[in-house]
Amino acid sequence: MSEAALRKVTEHTPEEIEKVKAWINTEEYKEKNMAREALVVNPAHACQPLGAQMVATSFEGSLPFVHGSQGCASYFRSTFTRHYREPSAATCDAMTEDGAVFGGQNNLHEGMENAYTLYKPKMMPVYTTCMPEVIGDDLTSFIRNAKQKGLIPEDLPTPYANTPSFNGTHIHGYDSMLLSILKDLTKDQRVEDKCTGKLNIIPGFDGNVGNLREYKRICDLMDIPYTMLADSSEVFDSGCDGEYKMYPGGTKLEDAAESINGKATIAMQKYSTLHTMKFINAEYAGAKEVMPMPFGVKKTDEFILKLAELFGKEVPQELKDERARAVDAMTDAHQYLHGKKLAVFGDPDYVIGIVSFLLEMGARPWYVVVSRATKKFKKEMDALLETSMYGEGCTCYINKDLWHMRSLVMTDPVDGIIGDTHGKWVARDAKIPLFRIGFPIIDRVNLHRSPVVGYTGAINMLSMIANKFLDIMDETCEDQWFEMMR
Ligand code: SF4
Repeated sequence: MSEAALRKVTEHTPEEIEKVKAWINTEEYKEKNMAREALVVNPAHACQPLGAQMVATSFEGSLPFVHGSQGCASYFRSTFTRHYREPSAATCDAMTEDGAVFGGQNNLHEGMENAYTLYKPKMMPVYTTCMPEVIGDDLTSFIRNAKQKGLIPEDLPTPYANTPSFNGTHIHGYDSMLLSILKDLTKDQRVEDKCTGKLNIIPGFDGNVGNLREYKRICDLMDIPYTMLADSSEVFDSGCDGEYKMYPGGTKLEDAAESINGKATIAMQKYSTLHTMKFINAEYAGAKEVMPMPFGVKKTDEFILKLAELFGKEVPQELKDERARAVDAMTDAHQYLHGKKLAVFGDPDYVIGIVSFLLEMGARPWYVVVSRATKKFKKEMDALLETSMYGEGCTCYINKDLWHMRSLVMTDPVDGIIGDTHGKWVARDAKIPLFRIGFPIIDRVNLHRSPVVGYTGAINMLSMIANKFLDIMDETCEDQWFEMMR
């Protein structure tokens, strides 16, 4: 754009710009910034319907249906497509101003009829954006009316979730949608004394398909039959064989329906499954457990021992060997992480896992930032930090965003940041590396395929972190310290 076409609203001298640039790195600015509550800058979370879409996509033949604005639906789809570099099928009834005034029933009806006619889904989960939530659209009656009018088949599963983004984040949308789908599919399926003998495993909101595959691989090694509920691994990583598949992978609907008669159910995340697990505790057969994500050796041990206990299995030698290799790799790399200070941000369950791993490695999770979390979470994190001498002096901040985190790292520096792509501005300003773990990762390739859970995940993470610090040492050391061996 030419200078003439660009009319600036305000003009600032270069000196003024430099002055402010320096000021935002000071203690004085940090104090004002950390007191900020009403305004959010670069939050480390996405909105509720995005989480709902991850679940709605992760069942066989399921077509996610967004009731709301087209722009919101494009944001969810493009975020998944950028993260996984895969198509992300979803449809939307594109509410506009008239829908906002008169209600969105007409949009929903026309949209559902079109979507069903064109794409013949086996299930069409519906979830909302902010607009219909603000005006109070009644999804229960809208969907019932659509079926009564014969716009969609009476027996088409259409679970729905209210996912207002002005309240909660993507993990809450995930929870609400999963709860609704399981309630719908398992209705009248519970049979007294029937047991499928299977484990139901709920990964939670996890953008790393490698993690989901790692859970399944561990179950296979332990000879435990399982159903993964909301299995996005094939949906978002289906391979390229020259043929477009509208509905690749996902949990089979019959398996999801039968999950209510399972032998045990394990949720691999606590904070993204709170309501779902309440329902499962009340309605499902078998044992129910909520495990911390198995980051590092200790938490992976807990997961595997829990599986062994629930299913009466021995831990196979292959997993014991893997564990031994992970401990060996941690010992080899320990010196490069030991004492390093790191800022960690992301979803509550991820952050708990990462902090636990860092403490095992003798690294210091100096700042822990979660941009939407409860006091209960903070209490859990503080207790975790207190379990290790490396947690001393570390601070957990809840309901703070990445602009808050910037002030922290600019005034009391750390060696690196762990989190998703949103952290790259802070990392750039602070001239420290960003280790990309979390969702979304939209500026690097294939990290979503590399597990960070299990023994394999521990090796992957420590290799990524230690090797980057070694790179930095090579790039910045004086000539006499440039060594072949590190
Ligand atoms: S916050 Fe609301 S308006 Fe914005 S993208 Fe999410 S659903 Fe749409």
